[in-house]
Amino acid sequence: MEHPHYNDVFVPTFSRTGAALVRGEGMYLFDADGKRYLDFGAGIAVNALGHSHPAIIAALREQGSLLIHSSNLYFTQPQYELAKLLSSMTFGGKVFLCNSGTEAIEAAIKFSRKWATGASKDKFHILSFYRGFHGRTYGALSATAQEQFHEGFGPLLEGFHYATFNDIAGTKEELDKHSYAAIIVEPLQGEGGVNPASKEFLSFLRNYANEKNIALVFDEIQCGLGRTGTVWCCEHYGTVPDILAAAKPLGGGLPLGAVVCKDHIASAISPGNHGTTFGGNPLACALGCVVLAIIAQPVFLAAVKKNGEYLRNGLARIAASHKGIKEIRGTGLLVGVEMAADPKNIIPQCKDAGLLVIKAEQNTVRFMPPLIVEEKDIKAALAIFEQVLVNGKL
Ligand code: PLP
Repeated sequence: MEHPHYNDVFVPTFSRTGAALVRGEGMYLFDADGKRYLDFGAGIAVNALGHSHPAIIAALREQGSLLIHSSNLYFTQPQYELAKLLSSMTFGGKVFLCNSGTEAIEAAIKFSRKWATGASKDKFHILSFYRGFHGRTYGALSATAQEQFHEGFGPLLEGFHYATFNDIAGTKEELDKHSYAAIIVEPLQGEGGVNPASKEFLSFLRNYANEKNIALVFDEIQCGLGRTGTVWCCEHYGTVPDILAAAKPLGGGLPLGAVVCKDHIASAISPGNHGTTFGGNPLACALGCVVLAIIAQPVFLAAVKKNGEYLRNGLARIAASHKGIKEIRGTGLLVGVEMAADPKNIIPQCKDAGLLVIKAEQNTVRFMPPLIVEEKDIKAALAIFEQVLVNGKL
């Protein structure tokens, strides 16, 4: 089938080829040519419940026929229910709802600066980490250390500094230089190549932040909400942040982001300080309530852990006979396979063979399927991946 010249009409922010996707069902996506893809990217860690999940469709129909948008000038019940759930599933903090991950990070930056500079005017500095990724708007971009994302967009915001992930001594040195409002960190870096924080590192950050009255912000936009086999990735560490940012899977496929803040930070904010027209609209929140109710079930989380292990074991078996694989990293169903060379040819060949996987930094192929994945899907994905490694052009 001849495809329209899609690229003619878009600002080329993404490099895309091939047919348009038209439909999704469970673990599969289908394109306009009728080709079927096993989805191990989940819309970049969004489709936790797969595609066309019946509970999501029911909530869409029900809330869609009642109220889709009303602005934040008024309360809505789905927004209240979602905020209560988020608060009870974290540390009991206050919730701000927005539309995306980058907006959640913007809110985290603004709230922590407002809180910290209220006590001391020069306490506005923000520390984040190399290989971390926090979004594309100016605050989140300034907190994203990699130069390739900055190029051509300077000047970035003032007061942003970077340290090496998991390097306690180097981080302390950087922290000692300035008066910090916040430290922003992904407990498990996603875009940066699937790099887990060490327990000692997160606990060092927690202790330092306590000592100097700095807001510790966990960006769980990619690693949170069930992806690692616990509701929040930080549960693996026993470390609690002051602000937790979530997004991606939260809205069941609709744009929805959130920050949960401890009360002392939330109380620095007054009406008018921050806001959003669409954020936390009743439709997205109704879907969010469905997502949270499902992913928080112990049997659901246990399956994520078990299937994550099955996936990593299968990849390790492939690695044993393929020199092209350097390392397998990750927790639960956020798994990175570091290749000896750039996997830029592997990803499209997997797609051609019917498997969607996503590239990350450090020559990494990311496997992050919907959390409803089953052993048979993992077997099928591993078979395609291995076939590409054996027969493909690497
Ligand atoms: N933070 C993390 C850890 C992410 O992985 C991403 C997106 O990939 C973002 C923030 C930005 O989220 P969004 O693309 O929804 O703005």
